[in-house]
Amino acid sequence: MSTIFERIIDGEAPATIVYQDDLVTAFKDINPIAPVHILIVPNKAIPSVQEVEAEDEAMLGRMFTVARKIAEEQGLAERGYRLIVNCGDEGGQEVYHLHMHLLGGKSLGPMLDRKFRL
Ligand code: 5GP
Repeated sequence: MSTIFERIIDGEAPATIVYQDDLVTAFKDINPIAPVHILIVPNKAIPSVQEVEAEDEAMLGRMFTVARKIAEEQGLAERGYRLIVNCGDEGGQEVYHLHMHLLGGKSLGPMLDRKFRL
């Protein structure tokens, strides 16, 4: 079953696309939790990290180089930013099309709230 992200990649659903090439698409999150909140997704419909294969390594690397490029464009290179990939139910994944969150534009604090610690 296709996800909303596939429809965004194919131009069939609206989104503010900030980057697209043969391997990945990046667009603004519809419900941002930071001044900069961009999702970087593979054009290929891979549900989660659990389904990535060795043949996907070029695409996975592209996700990082595109994250760096967008971070620079957004003025985050010096300030810093956070990349998050949620996986599965307990990982908090909501959309089952692999994606990397690029977050920045404010101090993001510790990686996880203390209430999530052991
Ligand atoms: P997850 O929890 O799966 O890692 O994150 C999914 C993200 O997708 C959430 O931050 C959510 O706001 C975003 N999202 C869900 N539906 C849409 C949509 O239709 N358009 C956009 N641009 N982002 C979406």
